[in-house]
Amino acid sequence: MQKLENYIDGHLEAPRSGRYLDNYEPATGRVVSQVPSSDGADLDAAVAAAERAFVEWRRSAPDERSRVMLTIADRIDANAEELAQAESKDTGKPVSLARALDIPRAAANLRFYAAAATQFASESHSMEGGAINYTLRQPHGVVATISPWNLPLYLFTWKIAPALAAGNTVIAKPSELTPLTACLFSKLCQEAGLPNGVLNILHGEGATIGQQIVEHPSISAISFTGGTVTGATVARTAGPMFKKVSLELGGKNPTLVFADADWDKALDGAVKAAFSNQGEICLCGSRILVESAVFERFRDDFVERASALRVGDPLEATTQQGAVVSEAHMKKILGCLDLAKEEGGRVLCGGKRARVDSDRCKDGWFVQPTVIEGLSMGCRTNREEIFGPVATLIPFDTEEEAVGFANATDYGLSSSIWSQDISRCHRIAERIHSGLVWVNTWLLRDLRTPMGGMKQSGVGREGGFEALRFFTEPKNVCVKYE
Ligand code: NAD
Repeated sequence: MQKLENYIDGHLEAPRSGRYLDNYEPATGRVVSQVPSSDGADLDAAVAAAERAFVEWRRSAPDERSRVMLTIADRIDANAEELAQAESKDTGKPVSLARALDIPRAAANLRFYAAAATQFASESHSMEGGAINYTLRQPHGVVATISPWNLPLYLFTWKIAPALAAGNTVIAKPSELTPLTACLFSKLCQEAGLPNGVLNILHGEGATIGQQIVEHPSISAISFTGGTVTGATVARTAGPMFKKVSLELGGKNPTLVFADADWDKALDGAVKAAFSNQGEICLCGSRILVESAVFERFRDDFVERASALRVGDPLEATTQQGAVVSEAHMKKILGCLDLAKEEGGRVLCGGKRARVDSDRCKDGWFVQPTVIEGLSMGCRTNREEIFGPVATLIPFDTEEEAVGFANATDYGLSSSIWSQDISRCHRIAERIHSGLVWVNTWLLRDLRTPMGGMKQSGVGREGGFEALRFFTEPKNVCVKYE
């Protein structure tokens, strides 16, 4: 059985305790590798290495940081197929999706922040009477990044790239459920000549090594992506220590479909938003609000398309829906489906565990793409994040009602509006409670834009210079020269 390793001070290492966790392949339900169960001893070694590396890394020219990050991006491209296979094996997602989305985006994250490192500038303010203020933006020192399992390498690099670009050294913790690509990434960093200790990758469980990272007194900033409940724990720990925290959390995002929408584009968009990556993207649109005049027609077409999605072995080219990440997560989703029925929901398609007709995947953790109608806006199914291939359909009569429904959750991450009335789209975009609003599209991302959520979807923004601002401390220097 393959034993994965931590990456500390430029070296691949076994956990000091010698303890490992089983790492499963969701499509087969079998253990495929052993992941280090890191603890405080590994963390202390990683922090010491990061502190040593910070002395040089912070002084390095942005060009130099940029160059090594570009080399890592090139190494990702050169190893794209191996990374895509690993990502699919670890998460259960179709390998076609990992090839098209996850791995190219990981390289793009590195390239984007390699360029941003050379363009980041700070402000100056001159004052009447002969004084000038300028702002220094200095790296914090050793920072931590903690990332989830749904887009493993994509979100891992989305955090470490700006942290490194800004001159910090990093302790990074990928999800214990999906460690493979971060492990491969360690080797790419070695090949690319990233100086020892600049990036350190520790594997293991959230409640142990994750919590210890957040508590460590030498780590001054934490960029976290994960569930809202975990985010609250991170905030509770880091708050009294006055650490800088960026929290990218869950969502229960609405898709608003108006009668005047371009029919096929809205249908395609709503299906993609609901079921991409088995519904395991924080930005997925799981509540589909449809104008009453077209509700029944839209419902029937939507159900037809959802039922036609091919659930299968993630490694097969024709598969559109792979496995969900773990047995526990599958059970959680199936429990949510029971709750939806108890709450009066009518299951229009799906609603059960899917069995894949192949010897390899017969014990895999698959869930049928599921569409439910007949639920009130206030019920738990329409308020709580399920994070699986489950969408509810809800009719609305007026624009006012649509906005009210869209905003009727504690989350506020993203939304998409489908209508050809552009004035209406702008009006709704202004009133909707979400950090991202898409109009006649979904998941179209420009890396320069702010990314993050309102309400319980998080605190702070990633993306563009926002992330470089998070990973630096602004210091105002006021000089009187007259
Ligand atoms: P999770 O909260 O269980 O875990 C996320 C990470 O935090 C993992 O690495 C985990 O090991 C670690 N962790 C767990 N407990 C910890 C603790 N006490 N201290 C420190 N770290 C700890 O989330 P998940 O199940 O891996 O991911 C799914 C969730 O992530 C969903 O809610 C989804 O919406 C959210 N998500 C949000 C975004 C976004 O950008 N807003 C993006 C992707 C996923």
